[in-house]
Amino acid sequence: MPKTPALDDFRRIVVKVGSALLVDAKAGCVKEAWLASLVGDIAELHAANRDVMVVSSGAIALGRSMLRLPRGALPLEDSQGAAAVGQIALARIWAEALGRYGIKAGQVLVTLGDTEERRRYLNARSTIARLLDWRAVPIINENDTVATNEIRYGDNDRLAARVASMASADLLVLLSDIDGLYEAPPDRVPDPAFIAVVERITPQIEAMAGAPASELSRGGMRTKIEAGKIATAGGAHMVIASGRVLHPLRAIRSGARATWFLTPANPVTSRKKWIAGSLEPKGTLTIDAGAVAALKRGKSLLPAGVVRVEGAFARGDAVIVRGLDGAEVGRGLVAYDAEDADRIRGMSSADILLILGNPGRTVMIHRDDLALWLE
Ligand code: GLU
Repeated sequence: MPKTPALDDFRRIVVKVGSALLVDAKAGCVKEAWLASLVGDIAELHAANRDVMVVSSGAIALGRSMLRLPRGALPLEDSQGAAAVGQIALARIWAEALGRYGIKAGQVLVTLGDTEERRRYLNARSTIARLLDWRAVPIINENDTVATNEIRYGDNDRLAARVASMASADLLVLLSDIDGLYEAPPDRVPDPAFIAVVERITPQIEAMAGAPASELSRGGMRTKIEAGKIATAGGAHMVIASGRVLHPLRAIRSGARATWFLTPANPVTSRKKWIAGSLEPKGTLTIDAGAVAALKRGKSLLPAGVVRVEGAFARGDAVIVRGLDGAEVGRGLVAYDAEDADRIRGMSSADILLILGNPGRTVMIHRDDLALWLE
């Protein structure tokens, strides 16, 4: 089994904190002692010249308990309003806790479009870079007050992975109420085996993720594995560790049980990171084994290798590329809209000329527009 990395190896770290860890729902406040211990750990990393960013959940959870809203799922307007009340308190608490160490906090609220649209992505990226230049700690959350059900990340696991890749972090720490990945959900199966290192997110690993767990946190293991894909494709390692202890980062440093997802060492271009992390692919292309092999050799995807086209996408949209076994091979920006892609799948360039009446762009996805999971 490969060696697990050490926390001190990393230069730029994103720490994601889940709502259930941060918010005492009954008391309607933040768990101050726990937060103080985490901020102590962050201050240690900061003093050791590491760049630290925090993706903090808890706006809705905190707001709803401050407002004494009923338990259970909230209507959209209520969760948007709860986030408005909760976020302002959350930001103040982080700023105060970091301020005790003389560290400045900077609040960054993002919406899905801020990472999915390339121009806005570059803009958000430069703001975060400037905060880090100033040695401030960005405190990041989704802007839940304006997010609607259709246009939102919904879970901060994937948001944190998107941020890690956007900010060129080399480590994403997901602090959670579970200490890592088990072969089967530990609340349903007695004593499942623990997975300490994931070198590659295979379909078997994906199958180990159960359904979302608690009422407070939207993400279950499933969104954590999705986050793992985005982070590792973007060049960051990811670790899932328990946040149920005081000083959770120190605990990771001293070898507490955790699951590490390793990124392949090869650097990826910023554009490919952005494609790989795309949260809303509009369709799927299933390709044959010959095409999978060609992609791994660095070739573009040709229509001839495509066996199935699903989804409603337009030229330039992000799509998922799968092998015949269903395993995700990568993501890319497709050169045809869904209808034309379906008409020319399996065809040679000469046939395409006959069918479309023009030679088209011959490639289905150009190699520069393609990010592969397994390179
Ligand atoms: N953005 C949400 C909040 O701050 C949390 C989403 C999540 O739990 O992953 O309340």
